[in-house]
Amino acid sequence: MLWRIRDSRLVFVADRVVEIDIVVWAYAMACTGGADSWLFPLMILRAADHVRWGVRRVVALGHLSTLIFLALILSQHQWSFSAVPATLWGKLVGVYTFNVYLASGALGIARLNQRLRQARHELRAAKEAAEAASRAKSAFLATMSHELRTPLNAIIGYAELLEEEMGSSMPGLVSDVSKIERAGRHLLGLVNDVLDLAKVEAGKMDIVASPFDLTALVRETTAFVQPLAQARQNTVRTQVPETLWMHADEGRLRQVLLNLLSNACKFTERGAIDVRAWIDTISDRDAIVCLEVADTGIGMTAEQLTQIFEVFVQVDPYHTRRYGGTGLGLALSKRLCEMMGGRITVASERGMGSAFVVRLPRGNVEPLSSKGDQLTEAATGS
Ligand code: ADP
Repeated sequence: MLWRIRDSRLVFVADRVVEIDIVVWAYAMACTGGADSWLFPLMILRAADHVRWGVRRVVALGHLSTLIFLALILSQHQWSFSAVPATLWGKLVGVYTFNVYLASGALGIARLNQRLRQARHELRAAKEAAEAASRAKSAFLATMSHELRTPLNAIIGYAELLEEEMGSSMPGLVSDVSKIERAGRHLLGLVNDVLDLAKVEAGKMDIVASPFDLTALVRETTAFVQPLAQARQNTVRTQVPETLWMHADEGRLRQVLLNLLSNACKFTERGAIDVRAWIDTISDRDAIVCLEVADTGIGMTAEQLTQIFEVFVQVDPYHTRRYGGTGLGLALSKRLCEMMGGRITVASERGMGSAFVVRLPRGNVEPLSSKGDQLTEAATGS
């Protein structure tokens, strides 16, 4: 409703009303003692109010109020200029000077506004340019990663074939070929991460939700990282319900969990890695599934914690050299969780271990699993 009034001619009328109120002020002054009225300073303040309306308004109003004040003092002295005492002329000059001063203030404000408008315009242009550059970068990365994957898959495939064909006849060479295969797989993992991140940033990552059992996913993923955990003599323990059905993107959640688990295995030695899953029920419709990966590893300082979800950030140069990595995993995990409508948080203390918690909406799982509250525990590892 309000914008309609603003757009209509009512605005014009309202503006005029604001201007002619000076006449009302002058009349009120005339009734309450003329030029000596206690309303005189208030009339000046009323003029000061108009500074925010712009220079032209202040100049017009300044002249109007000076003229009205002149008419007021002349009417009090039988319209004779010579009868007006010097003090009142002084007051009149004061009113005029004050209005000129206000006009200069309004001019300053107008210039500042102009500069602000200009800066806003430049900022918007810079933002649009940065977004276009980021889109171009993401598109380039997506294309490059895609092009890299094809030959990489061929290298890995042929390395596997060679391994099989050499078999027991050339055992010395088999170990060399398997190194090629492992390096190829590692590289493929990195390329996939870059591709995923580029897709997320370009807004082209699709989330395909379907019902699945999180417990089964946890079991399968923890089994997958067993060799990594055993290599550093870690025990992986799970504490999950018998079944925990949810509706989300299983593949993406597996990717997140795998990243958290491999980090936990990487940054922990002769320790324990605990995976827990539970439901945090806000209401029947808004159940949240929580998935925690906690380790007893090297942990992080408060300062490091503020950076770990940024792209290409590896907070500890010593351990990075020792354990490798790209600094992409957590950035990608965070974005994936957000795309699934959830979030990922971390609590950690240097030397005491870390705990990452993923919270995701459980989604519509029909019928809801009734066995969800029965916890089962398992431990594997060294
Ligand atoms: P990457 O592991 O490939 O380097 P990530 O994005 O997964 O990349 O992790 C970023 C950084 O966060 C790691 O380099 C490491 O310094 C720190 N970090 C992640 N997980 C853990 C953990 N469980 N314990 C200690 N530090 C961790």
